[in-house]
Amino acid sequence: MKPLLIAANWKMHKTAAEAKAYFKEFWPLANGVKGKLIVLCVPFTCLHALAPLVQKTTVCLGAQDVHFGEEGAFTGEISPRMLTETGASYVIVGHSERRKLFHEDDELVNKKLHAAISHGLKPIFCVGESLEQRNQGKEKKVVASQVLNGLKGISWPSLRNVSIAYEPVWAIGTGVAATPKQAGEMHTFIREVLEKEFGQDAAKAIPLLYGGSVKTDNIKELTSLEDVDGALVGGASLDAEKFSELISNA
Ligand code: PEP
Repeated sequence: MKPLLIAANWKMHKTAAEAKAYFKEFWPLANGVKGKLIVLCVPFTCLHALAPLVQKTTVCLGAQDVHFGEEGAFTGEISPRMLTETGASYVIVGHSERRKLFHEDDELVNKKLHAAISHGLKPIFCVGESLEQRNQGKEKKVVASQVLNGLKGISWPSLRNVSIAYEPVWAIGTGVAATPKQAGEMHTFIREVLEKEFGQDAAKAIPLLYGGSVKTDNIKELTSLEDVDGALVGGASLDAEKFSELISNA
């Protein structure tokens, strides 16, 4: 059986010193938990600081965004090669906050996915509908188009390092997670979309994570669903003790 992938998204939280203190508290608590692959997606500035600490553990490091270019006049951006040099192996791509606040569209997300894959990074590719889109009954249409546009031009087996995180926008940071029925239906639907477009091997292999108000008390129910292979956790990953409890509950 595949291990559950539990990824933390710290967003814009923690300095490098705070990240190191977190990890020193976190690892003794999380070490020994079986059947889980833990990924910490941290601010760029924490990657170098955490790399030596995670080295002798099973924890993987990830970034929260990446530019698609090799190098050049892109002030403020970070390239895939810069990320891999820090020791990061994962990267979140297309998070709804980047789509909404930084105007990232499917085309840009697609370029970032191509760049991440070609540099050997493992993208955690985020999709999810807004509340308005769900209220209009458009959630499946929206998610299918995000999945297909985001993965345009990528095929199996290049897709083998990609995970998809279904994160309904209305569930992120609100304390209102999708119900197991809502999450289960969407994950099964995404699996069907993947199978139709990329074939059975790809559909079976790509981990589907649920994200949006995952907490210690709902993680078990959500990750017990057939098509849920893990979780992307924002707020509840910021406290080392709580996050280690969440991981052992999964
Ligand atoms: C996220 O932003 O990826 C997320 C899942 O946030 P939260 O867990 O805080 O809802």
